[in-house]
Amino acid sequence: MTSIRADIETHREAYLARLKDLIRQPSISSQGTGVAETCTKLAGLLEDAGFQVERVPTDGAAVILARMAGDAPQSVLFYNHYDVQPVDPLELWDSPPFEPAQRDGKLYGRGVADNKGDIVARLCAIESTLRTRGRLPVNLVWAIEGEEEIGSLHLHQFVAARQDVLRNVAGCVWEAGGKNARERFEIALGCKGLLYVELVARGADRDLHSALAAIAPSPVWRLLWALAGLKGPDGQVCVPGFLDDVRPISPAQHAALAGWEYPEEENRTLMGLSAFLDDLTGPALKERLIFGPTCNIDGFHAGYGGPGTKTVLPNEARAKLDFRLVPDQRPEHIVECVRAHLDATGFEDVEIAWWEGEAPAAGDPDHPFVQTAARVAGQLYGHPPTLLPMMAGTGPVHLLCDQFDVPVVTAGVGYADSRAHAPNENIRLTDFFEGIEYIAALIEALGENEP
Ligand SMILES: [Zn+2]
Repeated sequence: MTSIRADIETHREAYLARLKDLIRQPSISSQGTGVAETCTKLAGLLEDAGFQVERVPTDGAAVILARMAGDAPQSVLFYNHYDVQPVDPLELWDSPPFEPAQRDGKLYGRGVADNKGDIVARLCAIESTLRTRGRLPVNLVWAIEGEEEIGSLHLHQFVAARQDVLRNVAGCVWEAGGKNARERFEIALGCKGLLYVELVARGADRDLHSALAAIAPSPVWRLLWALAGLKGPDGQVCVPGFLDDVRPISPAQHAALAGWEYPEEENRTLMGLSAFLDDLTGPALKERLIFGPTCNIDGFHAGYGGPGTKTVLPNEARAKLDFRLVPDQRPEHIVECVRAHLDATGFEDVEIAWWEGEAPAAGDPDHPFVQTAARVAGQLYGHPPTLLPMMAGTGPVHLLCDQFDVPVVTAGVGYADSRAHAPNENIRLTDFFEGIEYIAALIEALGENEP
């Protein structure tokens, strides 16, 4: 790969300029700013690189599907997203979010880590590969959506339309990630699922004088009692059926967790905690973080919260909850379990106003596709990477890959202080150029795998 390295070296300035150019184009999906323009721009870049590009329409932003043939018979899928998070609070940025700024070996800008840096690193890797060896070592299929930051709302429409393509790939190189707080390269193989619900309790048809609490029911108490029945002070979720479908952690997944150096002290201090929940530490902490399902209250709204007093009996109380799910829990089943539990405990009146969800996906560290990524990363970064069977966060891994038994590895150019979603989002230039080299080496190695 010496010549690829030399080619990347020669094109450093051009590659960096291309990343800056893409950062200058805003693409805030939650506000609808610049999303279509970014899609057009990116489609153009991919066409210029030699891809056959389709913009697959959905009821939201189009999904870019780019394809290029290579030497090996098998195909590899890349997944990225071209949208970014909003920029506020703007006053906390040291330079404007859409004016890429280079300082101290870092590049700052919204989306530079999450995940336009990944996109451009991959594009540059492909170009250097084509210049160096003429053709790609493996067939590439590249899906780039524009709604990841708002929950991949319409990705299912793309999947339904193009599952012929998605079913037939050997594996997927997912977005995100990079190096952790101890400078170790991390490869995640999946992510937790999610069930998000809003619960509503209602009382009178308007707010009442609180003297009437003597004779009128309180929806606020109703909702509090209902919530208290979902999880006990011991942290156990009390909903029957919640844990029924949880699959045991495999020996390979256990081994991967054991090999993960979780920066426990650093992260605890960063969170401002004196101790983790239940005094968790060591292997138990890692296992809970990666394989533990959760039931969390995101918000609770009822009645009066202003200054001083207001004696009122509110007529409505609302709570938003999220459950992070692990294989093989399914959001549509868990929401049924929650409904049944509310009914069985006398809370038929508490409504589930709406819900949405994503299924979880955990990967197998022993899968040959994963092992190839780990070997190449080990050679390039000079140390064995950490393999995380699942990220603690949620993304559409199940939808795009896991439901078709397609293995996933993340490959990102971020690091522990990349500040994704926050002010002063940044990457280190050395990580960006190493990331280009890694993708070039990875597709070369994947082309040598058994089809
Ligand atoms: Zn993000």
